Amino acid sequence: MTIRPELLKNIRTTEPYVPGEQPQEKVIKLNTNENPYPPAPGVEKVLRTMDTDRFRLYPDPTAGQLVHALAEFYGVDDSRVFVGVGSDDVLSMCFLTFFNSEKPVLFPDITYSFYKVWAQLYRIPYICPGLDEEFRIVREDYYQENGGIIFPNPNAPTAIYEELDFVEDILRHNPSSIVIVDEAYVDFAGKSAMELISEYDNLIVVQTFSKARSMAGMRIGYAVSNPELIRCLNDVKYSFNSYTMNQTAIRCGVEAVKDKEYFEAGVRKIVETREWAKKELAELGFVFPDSKANFIFARHPEYDAGVLFRALKENKIYVRHWDGGRIGQYLRITVGTPEEMKTLFDFLSEYMKK
Ligand code: PMP
Repeated sequence: MTIRPELLKNIRTTEPYVPGEQPQEKVIKLNTNENPYPPAPGVEKVLRTMDTDRFRLYPDPTAGQLVHALAEFYGVDDSRVFVGVGSDDVLSMCFLTFFNSEKPVLFPDITYSFYKVWAQLYRIPYICPGLDEEFRIVREDYYQENGGIIFPNPNAPTAIYEELDFVEDILRHNPSSIVIVDEAYVDFAGKSAMELISEYDNLIVVQTFSKARSMAGMRIGYAVSNPELIRCLNDVKYSFNSYTMNQTAIRCGVEAVKDKEYFEAGVRKIVETREWAKKELAELGFVFPDSKANFIFARHPEYDAGVLFRALKENKIYVRHWDGGRIGQYLRITVGTPEEMKTLFDFLSEYMKK
């Protein structure tokens, strides 16, 4: 059945974001940049002692315990922290709150594809400056008039990290715009722009528990900025849905933040495996920009990416591939455990012998 035109004209139709596959069977899952290791041990303990009687009650709408734990972790006041249901929720609220101009919002043409979806959904005009030949963001493109700026650092799916002088340059050229730095992968990379928040009143830094903290399934993300912008964000959030974060996620999040040692050790393991994986991939003939994330964006000059993607999938090794365009010949490979990566490399070397 099709929707009649007179009904359709009043409906907000949109082309949704397409998340990576979540197969229910057991596969080597290197397709959605999850962490292959479990979350901090304290998280399991919390789950075992959850008082289900509390489930009768609404959760704390401010998610105060989690906000406080994060504020302590970064050594800032609670008023500088906003939490949400994954950074997707936080970013979506940021688009709604801060990108409210007739002028176009700027984000790279090759980047997290959700940005375009939110811009379209909220009817925010946008321009997507192209990455250069090496897939780098061209800073001068962000000197033009705009209604806000957002980019991930490291960028996705390229995995390229830009140093903080790059972020500062963009901030300095755009004192009248809100600049959002999406740091979903920064723990695997280098310095966070978090250290710039007291210096630039137009900066918002967004991070997630989904990658370095191994908690994609719990859906926790957060933004750090100045108290005034955080208040604007909360005002919009409370006008949308007061109880976004459930009690379980709040408690688990607090436990994860407390265990700094486990977090740092986990990051080190992924970075080590990534550096080894780069050598293996290069030996197999792959080329890729230098990754500073928990994934590698690689192309093989002699093999079609779509064909490779399907061959891997048939053998229960899932990576990510986007059809067509400038990235159509690339595979985005999440860094898994050394064992998972070895299975991938063994498969590829056999495949390439044929
Ligand atoms: N930003 C970027 C750049 C991402 O790749 C992702 C993961 N898909 C997210 C944000 C959202 O992550 P989450 O909602 O799990 O925090």
